[in-house]
Amino acid sequence: MATSGRNEQRLPDRGVRQPGGEATIGVDKGYTEALTDSDGNYHGAGLGQLLTTESDRLKERNRRRARLRSVANTAAQRGNHAKADRIARNNLGAIKRDRQAGRHQARVRTEIFTAVHQVVDKAAVVVAEDLTKTLAGRKPLDRNTNRRLAAWTKGVTAQALKNVSERRGSALVHVNAAYTSQVCHRCGCLGRRAGDRLHCTSCRVVWQADVNAAINVLRRHGDPDITLHTPHFVVKQLVQARADRHRSRLPLPDSSPARRAESESSEALSNER
Ligand SMILES: [Zn+2]
Repeated sequence: MATSGRNEQRLPDRGVRQPGGEATIGVDKGYTEALTDSDGNYHGAGLGQLLTTESDRLKERNRRRARLRSVANTAAQRGNHAKADRIARNNLGAIKRDRQAGRHQARVRTEIFTAVHQVVDKAAVVVAEDLTKTLAGRKPLDRNTNRRLAAWTKGVTAQALKNVSERRGSALVHVNAAYTSQVCHRCGCLGRRAGDRLHCTSCRVVWQADVNAAINVLRRHGDPDITLHTPHFVVKQLVQARADRHRSRLPLPDSSPARRAESESSEALSNER
């Protein structure tokens, strides 16, 4: 059996060759969860913990290795080359380091690929931001551990979306995601972000931010004005024009899945009123 990714073969057989579902689903890439979809479901909920644990481990390991490197340098300066060599050989080698990194990467890949399979289980069309594009401007070797992990994770998510939808016969549609995390999906006004919440000051609703973004991503598919190549500043103008148009109208009742955050945030809301 031909598999393109080295960890995909470890996934459960479920879905590897099965066709996807029938819905059109928008997804938003997260850090705590691999993906949030426009139905309000979270996929790959273990991702945040995996990344935090690995980031902490790397920071501690780098501290330890820096200390040992300085011990080895001091020994070498004093002519104790046997000791310096011993430390370099036993404590500063790449074999164990690379093995541990490989294990972590395999776990993250499994988490992300499983998440994408769950989305494709119900989707004939997956609508997403093109995650490979935003990587282009980045320096390949970011010294900040968290940023480096996040950038790598983004690449894995992009690869998983492409590979899984291709193999299962779903369409992956890339859309322009500018402002999708900032506008209220109901009225189109720019909201205020606070943690994982988006407060819309126009309709006075608090949305779960990732679900709200996933719904906006879904709607960019078929948006007559905002295409993949619409420049950022033009998207901003369109978003503002739509919000202005909406402001004169009364908001409609809504049963959107993103509204789950509302009851939990009623206190924050009443403070605003
Ligand atoms: Zn709103």
